[in-house]
Amino acid sequence: MRQTVRKTILLISFLLFPVTIWYFSPYLIIRAASEHIMNGSFIVFCLMFFLSMFMGRTWCGYFCPAGGLQECAIRIKDTSAFKGKRDRIKYVIWILWITAVVVTFILGRNDVRIDPFFMTDHGISVTGINNYVVYYGVIMLLVIPPLIHGKRATCHYICWMAPFMVIGSTVGRWLHLPQLHIEAETDTCLSCGKCNRECPMGLDVRKMVAEGKISGCSECIECGACIDTCPKKVLKYKFVWRR
Ligand code: SF4
Ligand code: SF4
Repeated sequence: MRQTVRKTILLISFLLFPVTIWYFSPYLIIRAASEHIMNGSFIVFCLMFFLSMFMGRTWCGYFCPAGGLQECAIRIKDTSAFKGKRDRIKYVIWILWITAVVVTFILGRNDVRIDPFFMTDHGISVTGINNYVVYYGVIMLLVIPPLIHGKRATCHYICWMAPFMVIGSTVGRWLHLPQLHIEAETDTCLSCGKCNRECPMGLDVRKMVAEGKISGCSECIECGACIDTCPKKVLKYKFVWRR
């Protein structure tokens, strides 16, 4: 039931993407920064960072439109894209992009102001034909990696939003804030591998359970698919104060 609700939310989020896409745009945040404007994507990325201090990567697992698109792609290619080192590409992209945002903001003109609807048409992102060309270009960028490499490859390799949440979760742990995580009772695991098959991030959940590493995994999006599929109820959500 929980996974049906989760996937339905993700699908609705993806269907609303033509309305919301500019609120996740890494380009518009730079464009706005050049005019000293804090735009919609700036506000959304700040909220993601704040949310992740308490909820980890729950945004990715339950609400992200790009996640919704990629989980549809799992029906075509369901192999794991998790390759460890290759996942670091997204941090390189993120550092270059954040540097560009900061430099552009420093060099920007005008007084600083907040405009959540910057470059939208009454709050709606995609309206004209030119915008649709950009929109479908972004859709291709998001969907081709999982179709070639497997489960949620875009999240693993190129997502510019994931590092906000990985860093936010880490900061939450440093500050000893209460935080959602997945906990495992290693002793009761059957090693059946059902969790591996269901994990939309293609993680080796069985191995992480055996090694007691699941709660610290930065690629886990807290979707709960492993919890819901496990026949022995080995895994569960827990909200804890980290020490
Ligand atoms: S589904 Fe449960 S019992 Fe099976 S390998 Fe995963 S954690 Fe172990
Ligand atoms: S390890 Fe479990 S909670 Fe984390 S992404 Fe995989 S299925 Fe979802």
